[in-house]
This record gives sequence, structure tokens and C-alpha cells, in this order.
Amino acid sequence: MTKQKRFLLAEDLLPRQWYNIAAEMPNKPLPPLNPATKQPVTVDDLSHIFASECAKQELDQTHAWIDIPEEVQERYRFYRSTPLVRAYALEQALGTPAHIYFKNESVNPLGSHKLNSAIPQCYYCRQEGTTNVTTETGAGQWGAALSYAAKSFGLECAVYQVKISMQQKPYRSSIMRTFGATVEGSPSMSTRAGKDIITRDPHHPGSLGTAISEAIELATTTPNCKYTLGSVLNHVALHQTVIGLEAEKQMEMAGEYPDVVIACFGGGSNFGGLAFPFMRHQFQTLNGQCAKGKRIDFIAAEPASCPKLTKGEFRYDFGDSAGYTPLLPMYTLGHDFKPANIHAGGLRYHGAGVIVSQLLKDGFMRGVDIPQLESFESGLLFARTEGIIPAPESCHAIAAAVREAEACKKTGEEKVILFNLSGHGLIDMTAYDSFINGDLINYTPNL
Ligand SMILES: *Cc1c(COP(=O)(O)O)cnc(C)c1O
Repeated sequence: MTKQKRFLLAEDLLPRQWYNIAAEMPNKPLPPLNPATKQPVTVDDLSHIFASECAKQELDQTHAWIDIPEEVQERYRFYRSTPLVRAYALEQALGTPAHIYFKNESVNPLGSHKLNSAIPQCYYCRQEGTTNVTTETGAGQWGAALSYAAKSFGLECAVYQVKISMQQKPYRSSIMRTFGATVEGSPSMSTRAGKDIITRDPHHPGSLGTAISEAIELATTTPNCKYTLGSVLNHVALHQTVIGLEAEKQMEMAGEYPDVVIACFGGGSNFGGLAFPFMRHQFQTLNGQCAKGKRIDFIAAEPASCPKLTKGEFRYDFGDSAGYTPLLPMYTLGHDFKPANIHAGGLRYHGAGVIVSQLLKDGFMRGVDIPQLESFESGLLFARTEGIIPAPESCHAIAAAVREAEACKKTGEEKVILFNLSGHGLIDMTAYDSFINGDLINYTPNL
């Protein structure tokens, strides 16, 4: 047998439509509720804050396929299709009979999957006559992607970055400013919410909660300004399905079908992006069998310090710590949960998207929690074998893949493992320094 090509890359793999799993789930997710009236929120309610096309997509449970606008496809072609890579060197280092593949979402100029949703969100804003967009960002991946996307569609962009993260990862603010965005540490003096917090606590380090409050306030008090979000919501995961739709075709080209599909989990957008297109095969049954004849083990890898999937509770909760968002039916650790200061900033979120929460409840997927040190051990092994330094978030997916591959070594099974490399870690080198110096620790939350 000839050795497979390592890279499977072809521009015409880019899908023309996103896959909306909400239309095909056996049990639909419960509706988000207006906290004041306890009534389901409407597209109109959401359109005050978000682009109305995004608001529509958020609540759409009928159309399984949604057209990707031509101009968005053009922007995607700047960096898509992304490579599907067989990790031969990692397999060899582990001595596993498993076949390990990864979808490389780190190859775009911003270095993470976040751009896949920043582009359509900015596109819809511009189409609807919006001139300004705003958002919050923690580690800065989302803020960086949004800053670039906004600039490319001629929009002004204002980002509230968690103050402590801004000090820890100064280069991410530089990237945002390079793309023309204004960046403020949150809490700031530029909003009512920020002033209130600073008045009470002059040295407040900021949190995603404070930054969300400031961004929403700016969006609701500024004409022609919309708020955007980089994770958690249904329309964000919808945009990310380009990952799984490409991977589906690429796996076919490789003559393989996955037994295990893995992604790291913050709010669920890169997990949903890779998993949902494969999961639709599990809903289509022929004579009681999955359409492709195989059950896939879907694994969401979360940090042990923020374990909403494995230790959270399924209930209605707020999406932010201040309680400004609609009530979302989801697995949550409580909106006042304060995650430990781990380096995987993108995974420090108390809740999970509503679609993923329903799928977990219905047994279509499972969560695993990965301690910080194990995530970096696996990330380092990946870097040293495959030559790519992974984002601290992505290290969690790698660690889960390594666990599966090691289990195959014991049983001799030749499982096909597919994971998402959600981003590279080149702006996170202080985290790697700390790990190599032995300064990192594991955190177990008191729940
Ligand atoms: C933001 C981020 C995540 C987590 O977000 P999800 O919505 O769960 O995908 C994971 N990896 C990277 C590189 C990120 O920037």
C-alpha cells in the first residue's frame, strides 16, 4: 500500500452552506428565556444587540442548511480549506496502532478557528447598515479575529479586554491595534458599568463578566453599533461547521471514517464546528443502524479546573456573570463561578452552549476533564513530534486524543481518531515557559 499524502488540501472543499444541527436533533434545545418575563426570547429581542441575521440563525430550528453568502466564501478562501493532517510522528512516538488525524485551524493569519465566525458576523453587520462592532475578549483570540474581520468589512471595532489578561498577554492587544481596533482594559472608565465597578473596587482585575457588561452597554447606547460574541451561541457554532464539513470530505479522501471525534471545550464552538457535521450521520438511521454503520465517540475536552460538562448541572442560567444576557438552558457551574487562572484562557467559561448541552443530556457525546499539567505534557509531545506549538486550549484536545491512542495500544485496536487543532500557541509562550520551568500546578475547584 502506498503511504497516504500527509496534507489533504483543496480549495473546492469549501462548503457553500453551513450545517444547522438544531433542525435535525431528535430533541430540540429548550428556548432561551427573557429573565424579566420568563418568556422565550424572540428574533426581535436579540436583534437589539446582535445583527438580525445572526439573531435569526440563533433561533432557527427548521433549516438544516444555511447558505454562506458569496462574500463570506471569498473571505474564507483567504485561508480555507484548512489542512487535514495525519499525525504520523505523534503516532510513532506513542507506539499506538491508532490512526490520529487533526484538522489544522491554526493556519489562518490570526491563528485560531475564531475567524470562521468573525467574518460572517461582520459581514451581516455591514449588510444591515451597522458601522461599529464591539465585543469582550479574555486571552484575546476572539478580539484579534474580530478586529481583522471588522477592518476587512470597513467597520470600526472596540474591544473590552479583561484587564488582567491584557497585562499577561500584551501582544494580543498589539495585534488588535494593528488591525485598527481600539482596545480598553475592562473594567474601564468609558462605560457606566465600568465606572461603577472601579468606584467600588479601584484595583478590580476584570473578568469576562465585566467585559461583557461594558461591551453590551456600548452596543445598546451607541447608534449603529452591534455586539458580537465568539463562542457559546448557536449561530457561532453554525459558522464553525465549515471545519467539520471540510473534514468529512477530507476523511473520505483519506479512505477513513472516524471512530472518535475530539475537540477542546470553552463554550462549544470549535467542538460543534468539527462534531456536528459528523453527528448528523448518527441521527440518520437506516434499519436502526447509523447511516455510515458506525457509532462515533464524540469527546469534548474541558479543563479540570472548569468542569461544567462533567461536574456541572443542567439548568437555566445567565451567560455572563452580571446577569445581563437571556437565561440559557445549559450545563453550568453557576454564572458566579470564578475559574482558576489557568493558561487556557479560552476555556475559562462557566457554561456550555444550549445545543451541546442538549446533546450531552441525550447521550450523543461525552465530556472529559483534563488537568492543566496533563494538557501541557501532551501539548509539548505534539510540538516536539509534529512541529506545531498548540494553543493551551488545543492542548486539552490533544491530551484527550493521547488518552484514546494509549488505550488502543493496550487493546491493539486500530481506531481512527480525529481531533481539532483549534489554534497555535505562539502568543502564549509565557505559559510554555512556566510549564517547562515547573511553575504550573493543577487546580481542582470546590464545587
Ligand atoms: C476561544 C478558543 C477556544 C474555546 O472556544 P470554543 O467556543 O469552545 O471553541 C478553543 N481554542 C482556541 C484556540 C480558542 O481561541
